[in-house]
Amino acid sequence: MRIFIDVDMEGISGIATREQVVRADSRYEEARRMVTWDINACVEGCFRGGASHVTAWDSHGSGHNIIWDLADPRADYQVGTNDLGRLHDIGEYDAVILLGFHAMAGARCAVLEHTMSSGSWQNLWLNGVKAGEIAIDAGIAGDAGVPTIMVSGDDKVCAEARQWIPGVLTAQVKVGLSSGGARMLSKDMAHRLITDTTEAACRKHREIKPLVHAKPVTMRLELVERGRIPGRPDVTVVDGRTYEVSGATTREALTRL
Ligand SMILES: [Zn+2]
Repeated sequence: MRIFIDVDMEGISGIATREQVVRADSRYEEARRMVTWDINACVEGCFRGGASHVTAWDSHGSGHNIIWDLADPRADYQVGTNDLGRLHDIGEYDAVILLGFHAMAGARCAVLEHTMSSGSWQNLWLNGVKAGEIAIDAGIAGDAGVPTIMVSGDDKVCAEARQWIPGVLTAQVKVGLSSGGARMLSKDMAHRLITDTTEAACRKHREIKPLVHAKPVTMRLELVERGRIPGRPDVTVVDGRTYEVSGATTREALTRL
């Protein structure tokens, strides 16, 4: 069984403020350790649950957040930029885990909520339903027939995951109190929860269905700023800050935004 761990940063245990997730900021170095610890806890759960191969993708920002010296040697690691497309080889895996994820843009009392870009994306709708990065990444994997079996992060992203993916297991490592505050599990308890939930998810991975969005996939994006709508024939303008595209797959629609 091959497991792909898609690792973001905002939902990692111990992280609750922007200063921890922006590279030049004051608490970023501390937060890199937290990312690597959560990955290690998840990798441990994968192997306990029967994995033969584990890849972790460092998907936040530059994609260079993991501390190499601390990373579990049993996994391999996708880092940095990728010209082959988001989750380009996901069809080679049996299941996906979304680790350290955050709730969609606009979610209330959700730690560091946003969708793709807090600076430019105000709201996203996928096939008419407000959506965030869970629906995007699980949908790309789902188009390749690969289920998303486990999600970790705050209570809001865990609830979002369960709405999109019936039967998905969630490891809630914090309760969001605002976009910059949370009630946290301790480090050790969070890691234990991630390991145990991952192990259970791996054992039941065949019971969880891939998330497959109806085709064509339509994405409607409301931008933060005016005057930014792309002037292309495949773009349907909705209003001064909102436009719509569609694609034969989730990845294709995303690429057209
Ligand atoms: Zn991120």
